[in-house]
Amino acid sequence: MVGLTLAHEHLLIDFTAVLTKPSEASQRGRMHEPVTLENLGWVRHNWTSSIDNLRLFDEQTAVDEASEFFQAGGSTIVDVTSVGVGRDPQALLRISRRTGLNVVMGSGFYIDSTHSDWLRAASVDEIASQIINDVDEGVDGTGIRAGIIGEIGCSWPWTDSERKVLEAAVVAQRETGAPLLIHPGRDEKAPLELLSAVDGWGGDFRRTVLSHIERTIYDRGILDEVAATGVYLNFDLFGHDESHYPLAPDTYMPADHERIEQIEHLIADGRSSQILLAHDVCSKHRLKRYGGHGYDHIPSRIVPRMRARGMHEEDVRMVMVDNPTRMLTFN
Ligand SMILES: [Zn+2]
Repeated sequence: MVGLTLAHEHLLIDFTAVLTKPSEASQRGRMHEPVTLENLGWVRHNWTSSIDNLRLFDEQTAVDEASEFFQAGGSTIVDVTSVGVGRDPQALLRISRRTGLNVVMGSGFYIDSTHSDWLRAASVDEIASQIINDVDEGVDGTGIRAGIIGEIGCSWPWTDSERKVLEAAVVAQRETGAPLLIHPGRDEKAPLELLSAVDGWGGDFRRTVLSHIERTIYDRGILDEVAATGVYLNFDLFGHDESHYPLAPDTYMPADHERIEQIEHLIADGRSSQILLAHDVCSKHRLKRYGGHGYDHIPSRIVPRMRARGMHEEDVRMVMVDNPTRMLTFN
């Protein structure tokens, strides 16, 4: 049973690919400090500038934190940590066994800055066959199979290597029937550009998840246009409630109440069967142990809030259970 699901998380990850060096000399030293209560205020505002903050390496911490989601009624965590940011099949299997949660592992490759020499030189077919092998046979002979293709990283502007990887991911989607989950570049034009390429390669929008909707699309007209394609819309940054967004300082990170308003708009528009939720935990400061919201923020705080604002039970069930079940089911 898939049950209550978080559709985009990271239990373990090396997210230093997004490390942002502070420009001021006096701040550079902080980059190397471990996250403590003393520097947590600075880390929260500059979360991409602390190396320690971007490393989720401790399995016991992952078990403790994910267990809170289980205790809050959760069943499944989709871990879309792709190759290049530390995907760890054996550790995900151990975490699944120790927490009682289903952990669905991803396959594929993240943004350009994490691409290996092999990946840059590989052909579309070579990349596709590796993804297909992950889904059908398991990673590197471990027998541990991926249940989703993603997250497939795309920057803005989109790079050639990322374009090649997405094409390979679409080939693998067609071959396996597995869902494809895309991380779009930070620009409102990115989603439709990516989706038109996916369509051109013969991808299936009903088996495609567009991630990070809230930090990518601010305009309701564009949101409606993307929704009309039929893809899943992943509001996957719940709990990220600090409006300053160091990865895109010219825009902002919406607050939870803005996410809820977007979701209510989509539901009123008849789009409830396309919505997925998650936190995209990828740094220490979002874990409870480090003063964050943890993996149970959605079931413990967001779902009650959506109910209190009048969301119908069937829509809550659709978003939390039915949509992820349909999205994750393939032969
Ligand atoms: Zn992610």
